[in-house]
Amino acid sequence: MKVPQFMPYVDMEEWKAIEPCFKENWITEGPRSKIFAEKLCEKIGCKYGVFANNGTLALYLGLKSIGVGPGDEVIVPNFTFIASANAVEMVGATPIFCDINKDDLQINIKDCHKLISSKTKAIMPVHLYGFSADMDEVMKFAKKYSLLVIEDAAQALGIKWKDKGCGSFGDVATFSFFADKTITTGEGGFVCTNNKETYEKLLYLRNQGRINRGSFVHPEIGYNFRITDIQAAIGLKQLEKFDDIVSNKLKSYNLYCKLLSDVSEVEIIKPKTEVSPFIPFRVILKTKTNSSQLLMDYMAKNGIETRTFFYPLHLQPCFKSILKKQKYKFWRKQSKYINSIDAYNRGICLPSFASLSSKQIKYVCKVIRKYYKK
Ligand SMILES: *Cc1c(COP(=O)(O)O)cnc(C)c1O
Repeated sequence: MKVPQFMPYVDMEEWKAIEPCFKENWITEGPRSKIFAEKLCEKIGCKYGVFANNGTLALYLGLKSIGVGPGDEVIVPNFTFIASANAVEMVGATPIFCDINKDDLQINIKDCHKLISSKTKAIMPVHLYGFSADMDEVMKFAKKYSLLVIEDAAQALGIKWKDKGCGSFGDVATFSFFADKTITTGEGGFVCTNNKETYEKLLYLRNQGRINRGSFVHPEIGYNFRITDIQAAIGLKQLEKFDDIVSNKLKSYNLYCKLLSDVSEVEIIKPKTEVSPFIPFRVILKTKTNSSQLLMDYMAKNGIETRTFFYPLHLQPCFKSILKKQKYKFWRKQSKYINSIDAYNRGICLPSFASLSSKQIKYVCKVIRKYYKK
């Protein structure tokens, strides 16, 4: 049996949903994008939102809109998809890495106090794997040091921390609609805020420095971050399927938990109880031994596609020169990134997507069990 890591949940319904774009001859950003944005704001619980071409550029736009730029430092978890840090680098600021919690892999605020300098401008909690960062701690920390907050909620659409939506806490927050996110438009991103001025700044930035198209007077410098109504039509259909997607993913998660509960060599990582709903982005597992690589090799031999966890950012080859130039040695001394390194060494992302069958899950668990019996 072959079990892929991920399959997007799209079919002929999305195909049919894009037909009106052609019938009405409106394929660029337009009426469907407007409705899609309104529905997203409602789901997240925020006032304003604009699209970006993808989650990475959404982060770039978000950082720009709150005035993060050259000379600024932004605290970013050492354990996240690299785009979180690259977006900081893209606006000319410097990412300063902090460690994650051992238990739920989210940003570790205790590790952040020692990273504060006179240049620290913002903190970027990243809601990872379908959990939420502890937003009480993040907001308290930000207030204490007068920092701006940008939430990277690429994986967190519909997730709540104590009944408040991920993406509604920060000065600005971003989402991604890449193929493996909770809903997809192929590529796509969203930036949202509750602040009217930030919203206006976003509108200028994404639309060539003007509010409306069709005018050639540009009060500000801006760029083009538009999407298409074809993407929005797909996104609207995906939103209709949202509850199905969530319930299927939760069913998979629960079945994995049940079938692996007596395999003492592995542990499925669970969110804090304040996270509800929690929407598994991947089902994530940690081995009790020091390395998960042999198990992953064995699963691959049996047709199961797994993924490692994120490689710690302070070890990334691409950041070597940046880190060398800056006071990296100083931060390194401050944070040892013990939990990020441990997570990378022992973590495995199990196949988990909305159309995964219970037969496939049973097979995956059987293979894991067999590996440990050997
Ligand atoms: C996917 C992802 C991004 C980037 O989104 P893209 O749409 O792929 O550019 C950023 N941060 C996190 C945590 C992500 O999972």
